[in-house]
Amino acid sequence: MLQKVNNTVSLDQEDLTMSSILDQLLKPKIDSLKEIGLYRSIRSITGPVEPTVIVDGKEVILLSSNNYLGFANHPELKRAAMSAIKELGTGSGGSRLISGNLDIHQELESRIAEFKQCEAGIIFSTGYMTNVGLITSLVGKGDLIISDELNHTSIIDGCRLSKADIKIFPHKDIESIMDILIEDIKLFNYNTNRKRVIITDGVFSMDGDIAPLSGIIKLAEEYNVIVIVDDAHGTGVLGENGRGTAEHFGLKSENLILMGTFSKALGSLGGYVVGPSILIDYLRNTSRSFIYSTSQPPSICASSIAAINLIEREPNIRKTLWDRVNRFKKGLLELGFDIMGSETQIVPIIIGDSHLTMEFAKAIIRSGVYAPGIRPPTVPEGVSRIRVSLMASHTNEQIDKVLTIFAREGQRLNII
Ligand code: PMP
Repeated sequence: MLQKVNNTVSLDQEDLTMSSILDQLLKPKIDSLKEIGLYRSIRSITGPVEPTVIVDGKEVILLSSNNYLGFANHPELKRAAMSAIKELGTGSGGSRLISGNLDIHQELESRIAEFKQCEAGIIFSTGYMTNVGLITSLVGKGDLIISDELNHTSIIDGCRLSKADIKIFPHKDIESIMDILIEDIKLFNYNTNRKRVIITDGVFSMDGDIAPLSGIIKLAEEYNVIVIVDDAHGTGVLGENGRGTAEHFGLKSENLILMGTFSKALGSLGGYVVGPSILIDYLRNTSRSFIYSTSQPPSICASSIAAINLIEREPNIRKTLWDRVNRFKKGLLELGFDIMGSETQIVPIIIGDSHLTMEFAKAIIRSGVYAPGIRPPTVPEGVSRIRVSLMASHTNEQIDKVLTIFAREGQRLNII
């Protein structure tokens, strides 16, 4: 407790000092995470993000990168970034609404809108900021968000910050969405200003399955509901032209708002929303993570534009990715691994127990494969896993080597 003595403020003995906060509150929390097998440490990667990398000084096959098309070290993206640095420098020097709106930001916004076949686009510095900015701008107190239980944390945080009512539906369960909607319409009927939004990942980041978008859109059109799809992991890889999950299902809808990131298949950084011009204009004026943050360096925009160009020009890179994915999954299933409902380049190898998962992760890295274990709270209790993601730049030989190592270590630890 604070006490005023002779015009100075003194602390009681039992008040929390910085060192007691560190020793008595934070350190025990770290110790308990260690005890229950949920302590996280980060590994250091030396060199560019390629199929083989140096992790903590040892060469390993990288099997956990979101660099799905191998663009993060692609000469064309590097050239674009370097010439943007030469021409425009390293930083934008401001937020978009003050002095940080360079031509290249607007060029990227037009380019991503064109690629996604939408009227307009807006970019944010990261994908996380995109979800938080989009959701908190679009919905607020008195609105309803209906969110898949496995949505990405940036969606969850955006929903929580928005202060809207949030209903979570069981993963991909369209019936449940309908029940929630019917219940909500009974309570609030249609004649209110209550906006209703269904929000889902397009490709789920930990399970690698695809949202049932056709059913969701059908329902949304019937009940006048907005649908937001986070296509961070679908963009560049799904659909005939790599346009993502909506293209995969051949879907277009007035009710659909698409967000995505440049940070995964596109090998760059940042996020975007594409949709009707009025929505984009509204976000530009109200989205706090857009307004109050420095815009992306021009080199990042240049590499994102180069990535979109490459996706359009080189469909073979996408085809190679799917060849690798199919070879790998076939091998895993033959060995008896559980890969849940993976439909994409993201392949969860379910182990269950978090300690065993970490043991397997350590064993494979010792053998030369880097794919970290994923545990709660990132995934639910009981489904800890190795999250594998494939890249178009992996060779068949590398895939086969990984399968051999997984077979040996999986048998040794009684996982298969
Ligand atoms: N959405 C999804 C589905 C993601 O997986 C991620 C990041 N892994 C994000 C959004 C956030 O994107 P970023 O990393 O570009 O901030």
